[in-house]
Amino acid sequence: MITLKGTAVFGGIAFGKIAYFKRKQGQVKRSRVEDSGLEIARFEAAKAAAIGQLKELHDKARGEVGEAHAMIFEVHQMMLDDGDYIDSVVNIVTSQQVNAEYAVAVTADNFAAMFAAMDDEYMKERAADVKDISERVIGILSGAEQGGISFDAPVILAAEDLAPSETVTLDKDKILSFITMGGSVNSHTAILARMMNIPAIVGLGDALGEHLDGKDAIVDGFNGSVYINPDAQTLAQMKEKAEADAEKKRLLEQLKGKENVTLDGRTIDIFANIGNVADTAAALQNDAGGIGLFRSEFLYLQTRDYPTEEEQFQAYKTVAETMAGKKVVIRTLDIGADKQIGYFNLPVEENPALGFRAIRICLERPEIFKTQLRALYRASAFGNIAIMFPMIISVEEVIDIKKIIAEVHSELDAANVPYSKDVECGIMIETPASVMISDLLAKEVDFFSVGTNDLTQYTLALDRQNPQLERFHNAHHTAILRMIQMAADNAHKEGKWIGICGELAADLELTETFLKMGIDELSVSPPYVLPLREKVRSIGAAKPK
Ligand code: PEP
Ligand code: MG
Repeated sequence: MITLKGTAVFGGIAFGKIAYFKRKQGQVKRSRVEDSGLEIARFEAAKAAAIGQLKELHDKARGEVGEAHAMIFEVHQMMLDDGDYIDSVVNIVTSQQVNAEYAVAVTADNFAAMFAAMDDEYMKERAADVKDISERVIGILSGAEQGGISFDAPVILAAEDLAPSETVTLDKDKILSFITMGGSVNSHTAILARMMNIPAIVGLGDALGEHLDGKDAIVDGFNGSVYINPDAQTLAQMKEKAEADAEKKRLLEQLKGKENVTLDGRTIDIFANIGNVADTAAALQNDAGGIGLFRSEFLYLQTRDYPTEEEQFQAYKTVAETMAGKKVVIRTLDIGADKQIGYFNLPVEENPALGFRAIRICLERPEIFKTQLRALYRASAFGNIAIMFPMIISVEEVIDIKKIIAEVHSELDAANVPYSKDVECGIMIETPASVMISDLLAKEVDFFSVGTNDLTQYTLALDRQNPQLERFHNAHHTAILRMIQMAADNAHKEGKWIGICGELAADLELTETFLKMGIDELSVSPPYVLPLREKVRSIGAAKPK
């Protein structure tokens, strides 16, 4: 038996076989390069190698299936030598200073879209061909085999790391647990594991490798251990631990339908965080009183192109209707930083966490923002929707947002489209600036929700994605607690409510502190709703004299 140690991000025990995730071709990372000449030379070499492979395939196919069927490989060789195709790759590499893999992937997407839009049936079919040849080139450039996950039975998914865009597209029914070499507790992959209610461990380091693919293992998501080829004694111990966990969950079930009320009679809202429409079921199953954070960007991460107003409207309407009058706080698009989406064509940045993200993108590209706002307001006619804006740093941003909302209202009015006139608009408190001006911001909005993940990152100057910084990361840092208190006092002075929707909301060691601060709502991943209710019911909330 081998034991690996990492950082636990979500409790639970999983028994199963390890499947090692190999990044799929097509899921190409974008990186900045210093020497674009070198990248172009890499592309030329990979293209030549791809043409060589296609020549061989052509010869082999001609022998086996005849010239007519083998012709396609000749067509592919010609496409790779097409001047427009080459110009596009070279232009992307030089103008954006990016890697060849990324330039080929973008060119493939653009050309495929162009072919697909043509009237001629023959040309339409070339869309698949241009993707095919590009994947061959990317494969050669990255030295990767055709990868991806394919398995019939559920597995323990092992990976170097998983990007949020990869995590959201996995088949969740087939995953018993996540274990990764890198990653950190506040990364979005860890957050997704919590929302999916599966044991997860990050930061297992080099000991976790592809050589473990197919091995039997047990994941203990409580203490961060992975046992490879477990011995009989460990197996028995883990079965006992899993049974104790199941028993605890059965006991928590009894709390369903009960109030979130403290011993001294104070009631608090406990809401759930979700990332897509399907998560609403988990929120209801766990008896959440509402949705405190719908990370709408996950809708965008799951698609290959901008989701339309209609697609978004359907998603928001379904959640609002399913929650049947309970509050549903939907956060507008928060991409950038670790949540990259190819079709947004965002610039490559030196410091993406401090870069072009979230509300900044929405204010710079109002057409994207307005599409989302129209969908949100249309959906507001079907339930109790509130809208929340991420990464706010100034009052001016809120004023600009209000102007755009007014335009959306006029458009909807002009078209006689119904929407609620009582939609609450709030902001995330997740930058130190927003805390320091929370007295001014509270006058402009209906509520605050503290994003402790980013607030911690920006206040302590600790990259939330970097596992190396774990030992410096003090989630209970006095600076953070003082900031939350300050925002709460300023919200209440203006008669506004304040919640916490970052991961700290689920930290039971802080529940009493938060209640004493006067926090009105805590929003957590669905599996934490009942443990939090249990905690609230066991403590007092009176402020110390
Ligand atoms: C946060 O920053 O705490 C938050 C809730 O938003 P996200 O984790 O999606 O950045
Ligand atoms: Mg955030």
